Order: sequence, then structure tokens, then C-alpha cells
Amino acid sequence: MLTLASILTTTALLSLAMAIVLGSLLRSSVPGVQEWFASNLMVVIALPLLALRDLIPDFISVVIANTVLALAAAYYFVGCARFVGQPPRWKLLISSIVLIALGLIIWRYAINSIPVRVLIMTTFFCTLCVSSSVVLLRHKPPHRNHYNYWFAAALALIFAACQLTRGIYFITLDEPSSTMMFDNFWNIVLMVIGAVTLPTMTMAAVMLTHDSMLATLEDAANHDHLTEAMSRKRLEAVAREQIMRAAKLARPLSLLIIDLDHFKRINDTFGHAGGDEVLREFARMTRASLRDGDALGRLGGEEFGILLPNTDTNGALAIARRLREDSERHLISGAFGECHYSISIGIATWRDGESFDRLSIRADRALYTAKNEGRNRVLVDEHNNLDSLTSAAA
Ligand code: GH3
Ligand code: MG
Ligand code: MG
Repeated sequence: MLTLASILTTTALLSLAMAIVLGSLLRSSVPGVQEWFASNLMVVIALPLLALRDLIPDFISVVIANTVLALAAAYYFVGCARFVGQPPRWKLLISSIVLIALGLIIWRYAINSIPVRVLIMTTFFCTLCVSSSVVLLRHKPPHRNHYNYWFAAALALIFAACQLTRGIYFITLDEPSSTMMFDNFWNIVLMVIGAVTLPTMTMAAVMLTHDSMLATLEDAANHDHLTEAMSRKRLEAVAREQIMRAAKLARPLSLLIIDLDHFKRINDTFGHAGGDEVLREFARMTRASLRDGDALGRLGGEEFGILLPNTDTNGALAIARRLREDSERHLISGAFGECHYSISIGIATWRDGESFDRLSIRADRALYTAKNEGRNRVLVDEHNNLDSLTSAAA
């Protein structure tokens, strides 16, 4: 029993350490972290009770300790389900845990059978571990690195296999039900593997939590939350990639810079909320009319940039004219009333060796001239000379 008590105490301490790590992530508000934290706390409570077998009443060290462990497993599963946005299935879990507690009472006090009690527990652990793997793998988000999901699922499956083997092994033992059964070699081996796997499963949960927080941060940094267009930073990064590709493949690349006309007036007439709605609707309409690979970003305020790979000046001009016409026809209605708006667009086509900054300056200059020429028009910068602009008013 000494070896067993050591394994249980070590696992409890590791679980305590993992609970502290998860505790530091509680304020991340990532779904599932609270449940994984609770799961580890349950393990920290249950394992010392199991280790005190023969020193405290069996009702505590057998019935209560194992029921709390079942609750820990349930919490782990719920953490995984909530993490991937699936229902927690608490009703089914609580009903199963009540049945487990009844089973433990029956097979302790009516018929004292350690193998049956072990089988009850290991079957429940095994089912929840397999369910956790399935829920994680089935609902992993499509655009993230899946390594963490596979890692968590693989650990849960290893733990499930250990538990299943342990349950079957106990059933094959023909000794009378005495605590000496726990001291046999194969039980110790399986428990050690389980003891290592359990905190590692929590480590996998921590990795999933970090990945989720990173995704949220990346999303916040790469997107403008009002219009869902790319942020300026992201658009610049995409531009650098597209410039490299254009240079390598000798393909054209054009940049449109768009500014909504008299936007201050729109805000004055329809209020800031009305202005926001116009920005959102303009971005939505524009995104819908672009091809895959084109990139729309919000450069700031009511100014947007569109990168058009594989598009020469004529192609960019056709797209810009279409956007200008669509915007002119676009009626936006909401609680603020009904609003028409127009846009001005400056176009520059990338020239070999040119940086994104210089390309932007040329498109910006074209836009500035479009504004000066009366707005609601499209202008192309066709020369490297920043002062030389060609009017292409639609
Ligand atoms: P122009 O035709 O010359 O571009 O005139 P304009 O009024 O559109 O340009 P100006 O730069 O003078 O004003 C832009 C306005 O856009 C001022 C600012 O309050 C408003 N604005 C900037 N960001 C937002 C936003 O996120 N929401 C709303 N509603 N308004 C914004
Ligand atoms: Mg403006
Ligand atoms: Mg502006």
C-alpha cells in the first residue's frame, strides 16, 4: 500500500500544480478553463482520500473519493466540450455519477468486490476520455494548427487504454477482495502510466488555452472590429508578401486607396452610429464584390486600401469604377434613416523594385487629386513621378 499511496500523493501534488497553472488562466475567459481547473481540484481532493484507505472510513475513502474522481473526469470532458463550443451534457453526466455512487455503495456494502468497483470506475474514465478525444478532434477549428488538438486527444486515448486494461485486469484476478489487490505489479504499472498521463492531459488543456488566446490576439491585431476588414498592419504584411510574389512571378499588382466622400457630413446628419453603419455596409459590399486573394483593409477612419494581385492598371480601373458605381447606388437604411454616399479612389500599379510605402504614396496622391477634382471619381497614378497623375474620372 505504500507504493500505491506514493503514486496517489505524487499525482495529487502534480494535479495541484496544474490547478495553479490553470488558475492563472481563469481570467482569460477561454471556454473550458474553469471546468479543467475544477477537474484538477477534484483530483487534488479525491486522491489523498484514496491514499488514506484503511485509515479513514471506507465510505469516505471508497465511495466519496471515487465519486469525486468521477466528477473530475466529467469536468475534464465538459472542459473539452465547452472549449470547442459543444454542449456540456451535464444531465447525462450527473445521472451517470449518481449511478456510479450507487454502484460503489452496492459493491462495497452489499457485495464487497474490488474488481467490480474498479471496473465501474475505469469504464467511466475510459468513456469520458474517448468522448473528450472525439469532441476535440471533431470540432477542432479549421484554420488553426491542429497539433495541440491531436496531442490532447492522443493523451486522453492513452489514458483510456490504461483504464480499460486496468478494469479488465482486475476482473481476471481471482483473489478475494482485499486492498492487497492494488499492490500487484501490473496495477502499479498501469497506475503509474495513468498518474503521468492525467496531469499531462491538463498540460494539453493549457496548450489548447494558449492557442485559443493567441488566436484571439491575432484576430484582434489583424482585423478591424468595426468593419471586419483587415487592420492596416495586416494589410501592410499582406502587401509585402504580394509584392514579393509579383516580383518573383513577374505578375502585376495594383493598389486602390478609397476614401468615403464628405463623411463628416454623414456623421453630422446621421450621428456617429449611422456613420459606423455606413462604414460596415460599405466594407461588406466591397468584400462581397472582390475575388479570393484580393485584400481589403481599413487604413484608418473612412479610408480603405484594396490590394489586387494579378491585376494591371486597366483591370484595377475596371474594379474601381464598378466599386464607385456600386457605392453611388448603395442605399443604407437603419434606425438612423436612409443614407446615400459616394467614394473617391486613387489607383497605383506596382512597379518593379517599388516598396509598399512608395506605392501607397502614389495611390494616395491620386486619391488626393480625385478629391480636389470634385470627389466621387477614380484616378490613376501612372508614373513613377509622384507629381504626375492621369485623370480617369468615371
Ligand atoms: P472628404 O470628402 O474630403 O474625405 O471629407 P470627409 O468629411 O470624409 O473627411 P474628413 O477627413 O474631414 O473627415 C472624416 C471623418 O470621419 C471625421 C471622423 O470623425 C470620421 N470618422 C473617422 N473614423 C470614424 C469611425 O470609425 N466611425 C465614424 N462614424 N466616423 C469616423
Ligand atoms: Mg473622407
Ligand atoms: Mg479620410
